[in-house]
Amino acid sequence: MALHIVSTPIGNLDDITIRALEVLKSADLIAAEDTRHSGILLKKYAIETKAISFHAHSGKTKVDKIITALKSGKNVALISDAGTPGISDPAYSLIQAALEHSITIIPIPGPSAFLTALTASGLPINTFLYLGFFPTKKGRHTLLTSLKEEKRTVVFYESPHRIVKTLHQLNEYLDPERKLVIARELTKIHEEFIRGTIGEIKKHYEHRKPKGEFVVVLGGANMV
Ligand code: SAM
Repeated sequence: MALHIVSTPIGNLDDITIRALEVLKSADLIAAEDTRHSGILLKKYAIETKAISFHAHSGKTKVDKIITALKSGKNVALISDAGTPGISDPAYSLIQAALEHSITIIPIPGPSAFLTALTASGLPINTFLYLGFFPTKKGRHTLLTSLKEEKRTVVFYESPHRIVKTLHQLNEYLDPERKLVIARELTKIHEEFIRGTIGEIKKHYEHRKPKGEFVVVLGGANMV
């Protein structure tokens, strides 16, 4: 028995490894963030494994249920709606509980939106800082202030509803000449990279309504 942490595509359904497909097919149970959403992927690859939901609001009862299945000898595969479980997605509480019960954790690597964005950003990525989602309210001022001196490339997730506000604040707190890359709709039909400075990209969105999924990559303070 083992808990497999399986990465799934972030858009293009072809971006799944042979090993991930084998694990999903042979598992006794799939714990999916949203069974309906993952159903599209599972159907495409004719995976008939039983799926149950495990999401951000799943409490101890659900964790216990999955642990009971694992302890009875079953193999469980954990997947999220997109990318790698645990990366701004649920996984932590289940992995902690599994470790407490000495259950083996097997990672099945694959896509993650922030890595995909960094790869094509054109910014230095030997070392970088990943922030997850940019804070929505509390912590924004402190974070923006700390980014003034940050020398590493910084990468974060932002929603289409907040991206314009965030671009304005980056422009206000940081040097508008700092490099910035917007990676939008990665691996999908409308994949787009906008490369420029904070000031230029803020301007770009003065005339456009942001749509889709976004990763923001900010150049280090030393790169201006
Ligand atoms: N676990 C995922 C991963 O490994 O990247 C991240 C899940 S997080 C809940 C969802 C956020 O990731 C989105 O709001 C967006 O910022 C980013 N994201 C996911 N897929 C994306 C894509 N295809 N293009 C751009 N950003 C994406």
